[in-house]
Amino acid sequence: GPQRGIPPHELHARHRAVLPDWLALYYQRPLEITHGEGRHVWDAEGNRYLDLFGGVLTTMTAHALPEVTKAVSEQAERILHTSTLYLNRPMVDLAERIAALSGIPDARVFFTASGSEANDTALMLATAYRQSNQVLALRNSYHGRSFSAVGITGNRSWSPTSLSPFHTLYVHGGVRTRGPFAHLDDAEFTAACAEDLEDMLGQTRGSVAALIAEPVQGIGGFTAPPDGLLAAFREILQQHGILWISDEVQTGWGRTGDHFWGWQAHAAAGPPDMLTFAKGIGNGMSIGGVVARAEVMNCLDANSFSTFGGSPVTMAAGNANLTYLLEHDLQGNARRVGGLLLERLRAVSAGLGIVREVRGRGLMLGIELVLPGTEDPSPEAASIVLEETRAHGLLIGRAGGHSTNSVLRIAPPLTLTVAEAEEAATILERALRTAEIELGGKAAP
Ligand code: PMP
Repeated sequence: GPQRGIPPHELHARHRAVLPDWLALYYQRPLEITHGEGRHVWDAEGNRYLDLFGGVLTTMTAHALPEVTKAVSEQAERILHTSTLYLNRPMVDLAERIAALSGIPDARVFFTASGSEANDTALMLATAYRQSNQVLALRNSYHGRSFSAVGITGNRSWSPTSLSPFHTLYVHGGVRTRGPFAHLDDAEFTAACAEDLEDMLGQTRGSVAALIAEPVQGIGGFTAPPDGLLAAFREILQQHGILWISDEVQTGWGRTGDHFWGWQAHAAAGPPDMLTFAKGIGNGMSIGGVVARAEVMNCLDANSFSTFGGSPVTMAAGNANLTYLLEHDLQGNARRVGGLLLERLRAVSAGLGIVREVRGRGLMLGIELVLPGTEDPSPEAASIVLEETRAHGLLIGRAGGHSTNSVLRIAPPLTLTVAEAEEAATILERALRTAEIELGGKAAP
């Protein structure tokens, strides 16, 4: 049952007194989650929530999945950590499986402890391989909090410093719904972005190392380029020898339903040279990593290792979690349940002036909110919906590009059932209507 902990308000005060101001918390009365099971979590007061955010897409299969817990505790009883200086069976096992799944020919895998560190490594490899520190990234992107990941992140509200070890060139491609491209269809947008990329390369001196891109922008608000856009980019990049890094930290492992990796929606010109992963594979244990073609991975001519990357206890979690994901066809579940949820959310949003767009694929769905009847992003609406859904036992996320924080993010554990999706849609409908009324829209109560 639920554990009774320290009253949250006291913990909140202690949190604020000792942790950085920029470590943001959700909710006016922040939540202390003490327990989880399946798609549910409990707070310190014993309230139960249906969790549609999974600790930011990190609980990939389910909370407290017995298979993962058992694998972790069995490994923990033997040894928690060795070192990559010694042979490590769970690490080799998981590396082989990820290499085979990656779609990258002659793949090599390097494990890290986070997504930031994975992108950091991919960027180091690309810059070493190409002997260039110029990097292409998409506007509105997010790639992590290490110095190099910040240095290529396009979303300035998540880039705490503008200093960068790279010369970063930002291209269009991630967001079409606003700005100069808003009126274009898929083909026109793809052509315009490809032209923008060529124009950018034409104005650039010296070589460029890589393009890094999220196939669906996560913190940017679950916006995606049209299918095939990155393949069009890939053709241009190949003419210049520029590498393609797919940041699969949010989109990997079948979450998008139609594909196991996000890059597969852009596969016409072949797989990326590298992909990075993190979050979900460990189901909460800290696993990140890079998959790269051998030629790229092995271009470093000095030793490099990670103390915690590939530690046996995280690898045990990763192996058990991946086995569960594949044996239960959770990609298929993401496609089916995600498809139904998308339909339901579009139905409940119809006629609501605060909803500008319901979008996404698989179990990666976004609801973009505006002031009723306008095109103006409404962070207030998102705040109201977050508080209301929490009050009715539902956890969701928020984000959105251009500092607006006006997109609701839905990214549950991939075992979400149809009944849970229905329940979530019902709670969301009520919360959206409340926000609509509070912000002066026309929704009937
Ligand atoms: N890339 C993307 C697309 C992400 O969403 C994140 C985390 N939100 C990261 C990289 C960084 O991962 P981590 O927080 O594990 O460093």
